[in-house]
Amino acid sequence: MGKPITINNETVQPGQNAQVFLNIYKLPTHTLIEIPVFVFNAKADGPTVLILSGMHGDEINGIEVVRRLIMRDDVKKLKCGAIIAIPVVNIISFLSGSRDLPDGRDLNRCFPGAKSGSLGSRIAHDLMTHIIPQIDFGIDFHTGGAKISNYPQLRCVFNDPRNLALGKIFSPLMVLNSPFREKTLRQAAAKHGKPILVFEGGESRRFDYHSVNEGINGCLRLLHHHNMIDWELPDNNTVFLKKTAWVRAKSSGLFHTSMRYGEHVKRGDVLGMICDPYGEVEHKLSAPTSGYIVGINNQPVVNQGDALVHIGVE
Ligand SMILES: [Zn+2]
Repeated sequence: MGKPITINNETVQPGQNAQVFLNIYKLPTHTLIEIPVFVFNAKADGPTVLILSGMHGDEINGIEVVRRLIMRDDVKKLKCGAIIAIPVVNIISFLSGSRDLPDGRDLNRCFPGAKSGSLGSRIAHDLMTHIIPQIDFGIDFHTGGAKISNYPQLRCVFNDPRNLALGKIFSPLMVLNSPFREKTLRQAAAKHGKPILVFEGGESRRFDYHSVNEGINGCLRLLHHHNMIDWELPDNNTVFLKKTAWVRAKSSGLFHTSMRYGEHVKRGDVLGMICDPYGEVEHKLSAPTSGYIVGINNQPVVNQGDALVHIGVE
């Protein structure tokens, strides 16, 4: 028999699916804002999986991943275990189309949070109090920053065996070794023994259907592996990248590249050109090392020092 899941005083019994709310807070206009949480709780015992997106309000691909997952019949009728799905955790930033909260704070630097802290700190506290203790593991969906496209990829801690094992089951196109960052959900949950995988794909404020599909497929592989659904997918030939580095603009100007994310480049390959607007200067941007392009800048006008191409090394 499965176990009841209680969020914010609402209990979802084994064999039930329900929508509950993580918390309710007020906008300055006193309009109430709720954070919807979708709970799918099977009768049979199994793992409880958190699928969360919208931590940054302008990162839309993850929201689409969760939307498509919770529409599925096999998710609505899990064979065992439970899913706690939060499509948009940072509602207020989503409404304003911004990455950060109205006070400028990054929600993913507010963990573990505090009951009487800032807005971000309160949302973090609610997640840590109501959700994290009930899960076995989770996936947190992100995208690249503004004007940066990330190739669909998972961020794992290579020297954490449980984290890496889940990453292998997800079977993304790429896994990047990504040590814990202070005050993130991933780090705060890990301190409670709950592994969180971070998925990155595409660019903020844009749909990238390749990334959306890879995000969904990885979740389905995890659910199938834990016998929660019947749907089975072939694995990707995952590339494991031990370290990554940005190639930065040596000069300011117009950046042209024909490179695409996911491509393999050799040391010395030309990644693009930085030109002045007057047809006089053209600087080549070369790969300092061999590796895979894990992220790429889409901004045509760049300043000296701007991050342009993110290369991962096996
Ligand atoms: Zn993000």
